[in-house]
Amino acid sequence: MKKVSRRSFLFSAGAVTTAAFTLPLISMHENEKKYTGKKLNIALVGLGRYAGILADGLQESEYCKLAGIVTGHPAKAEAWKKQYNIPDSNIYNYENFDSVAGNKNIDVIYVVLPNSMHAEYTIRAAKAGKHVICEKPMATSVQDCEDMIQACKDANVQLAIGYRLHYEPYNLEIKRLGQEKVFGQVRLIESSLGYKTGDPTEWRLHKALSGGGPLMNVGIYCLQSSRYVTGEEPISVTAQFGPVTNAELFKEVEASIFWQLEFHGGAVCNSSSTYNCGVDRFFASADDGQFELSPGISYGPFKGKTSNGELHFPDINQQAAQMDGIGKLLLENQPLPNHITGEEGLKDMKIIEAIYEAARTGKKISLV
Ligand code: NDP
Repeated sequence: MKKVSRRSFLFSAGAVTTAAFTLPLISMHENEKKYTGKKLNIALVGLGRYAGILADGLQESEYCKLAGIVTGHPAKAEAWKKQYNIPDSNIYNYENFDSVAGNKNIDVIYVVLPNSMHAEYTIRAAKAGKHVICEKPMATSVQDCEDMIQACKDANVQLAIGYRLHYEPYNLEIKRLGQEKVFGQVRLIESSLGYKTGDPTEWRLHKALSGGGPLMNVGIYCLQSSRYVTGEEPISVTAQFGPVTNAELFKEVEASIFWQLEFHGGAVCNSSSTYNCGVDRFFASADDGQFELSPGISYGPFKGKTSNGELHFPDINQQAAQMDGIGKLLLENQPLPNHITGEEGLKDMKIIEAIYEAARTGKKISLV
């Protein structure tokens, strides 16, 4: 499917509340209105693979701009400075990062570091008086999530988690189908995400930086989808680790994990996440029909179908959509929606800790 302007999708599909739209617009074609006001200045922290993808998304964003960077590598700083026209005054390293407090040209810090560094940099950003977007998983422990939320509250700044699928049209549709019970009560969800890993030096394989294996990294999306499709919180979990398929790679984190969640309304979700092979799918069976996406969790293009036929939505730039969804609200001084806040990240982390406990002990863990 042709990649359409994310902007036209937002307007045509009503993915944002256009009625409350108060920012300055100039009139072009009705569906191609362009925002002409101040953009939110974003600084990315940690210039790795995903920061590069976010930087691309920011080039397409109407409400946000890549304005600053924080990196441990001067050569990267130089390359990014040239590529994105970033002034020296908006370039930081991990040591002088706190001085961003005095920089009026940075509004938001976007933390794109290894998982166990999220808490420290979110808290430092909040103390510097900046709004924070923090990548998933929010942190590597419930305690860190709580500290991050508290730091942002104390500093009176907002905290968002990089849950990009809340801006992605196929996922918005399965959320609607489930929560509005379009096919009746959802009874069974199967959701899996995985890929094959191979580099033993990768931080994701080292628990001190990752906090865990594929569950922390990609299983969190399966957990999220089961929660946003049912619109409910799980009441209990059972879980099992998969076999150690490579003793060198999987010394510190699981190679695979499988878990089962029970929800109040009667839905059961069976999920897997793995570093052994590629898998990217969501399936739900409800009383009067079924719906599924495959692929539907990664970056697309996605494919979906329901008992009524195929789903067709635009293939959008998810990062641009996410940045604009968040950016527009921050520019308007509006609260961010619950499903992307730190509280949401904390809910996921509590369930992740319970999944690991269930897998370790072999017991069913209650979540109520
Ligand atoms: P990378 O390894 O590609 O990049 C991480 C960057 O963090 C490095 O390039 C480095 O930047 C910085 N860093 C600082 N200290 C360390 C350290 N001790 N070890 C390694 N890197 C360090 O990771 P990703 O970009 O893939 O992931 C970063 C975060 O983004 C993770 O939390 C991940 O879960 C999340 N993510 C989210 C995705 C999504 O779709 N929402 C997709 C992919 C990742 P520098 O050299 O500039 O200092």
